[in-house]
Amino acid sequence: MTAVCRTLAALVVALLASATSAALALGENDETHEISDGVHSFTVGEGNYSMFVVGEDAVAVFETFDSRHSKAMLTAIRSVTSKPVKYAFQSHNHWDHASGGQVLREAGAQTVMHTLAAEWLAAHPGRDTTPPDIVWSGDQRDIDMGDFTVEMRYLGLNHGLGMTVFTIPERRTAFIADLVTPNRVMFSVVPDFNIGEWERSLTEILGLKFDTAVCSHNELPRAAALKGCTLAHAEEERQFIRDLRNAIIAEFQRGTGFLDVPKAVKLPQYAHWVGYEQWLEMNTLRLMTDLWMGPFPWVPDADPKRTPQRQD
Ligand SMILES: [Zn+2]
Repeated sequence: MTAVCRTLAALVVALLASATSAALALGENDETHEISDGVHSFTVGEGNYSMFVVGEDAVAVFETFDSRHSKAMLTAIRSVTSKPVKYAFQSHNHWDHASGGQVLREAGAQTVMHTLAAEWLAAHPGRDTTPPDIVWSGDQRDIDMGDFTVEMRYLGLNHGLGMTVFTIPERRTAFIADLVTPNRVMFSVVPDFNIGEWERSLTEILGLKFDTAVCSHNELPRAAALKGCTLAHAEEERQFIRDLRNAIIAEFQRGTGFLDVPKAVKLPQYAHWVGYEQWLEMNTLRLMTDLWMGPFPWVPDADPKRTPQRQD
């Protein structure tokens, strides 16, 4: 690089650093949408949606996904505000959600997750995961952001470990990972879901007070997905589980052979959902296995008195 190029590059960096939203170009597929006052959904176009909330003093980020996503999200945040990012909340232990935290840490944020997720990640670090800065335990913890509150709820062993549902009561919004996936059947072989606990957790979610949530995987058309999900989508998710279970039981009662049940089950009312053709058989096999063997996975309740690694 010549000196002139270096000077130009430095100038570009300086311009970007002081740029307004118009000058901070997002990637081709990156998109944000303000779903509520200061609450933004963000995607890089791979079916992953995170959320950031801009308060009077600072920004809170929900779900880092991976480094690429997090870097793009930081650009999106900087296109909206220059306020510091104080916290990056991570919903649960799985690598496809809990990666990328280092990007936010380098930007000055503290990463936050439930102790059950942190313990699993300490035992099973992913290529792009980092230990959280703040670990919390128990069923609920609130974090005061000044003009808004982040309510963190651990609803039980529904999916993965330490799965946290976040609500921002002042903005009547929420962030929900993996438990509500609008317009899609259950994910492939329904990995690491305790389906009964998932159903029960959905009932708890239906009791929460919010108007709009960002759902981590939203298969509505992009424009609608960016606007978030609602309690109606949580209700649909619960109904799908119930309809699928009832359809399986009906096949058992009809005398359909165990191995023939996955092909026999049809739920035409969900035929328009993403994954219906590819995954309904897998969903069925997983749920019938659960009905046959008993619910899994399962571990005893975590001791709420256990000492977290680090505490805020
Ligand atoms: Zn997951």
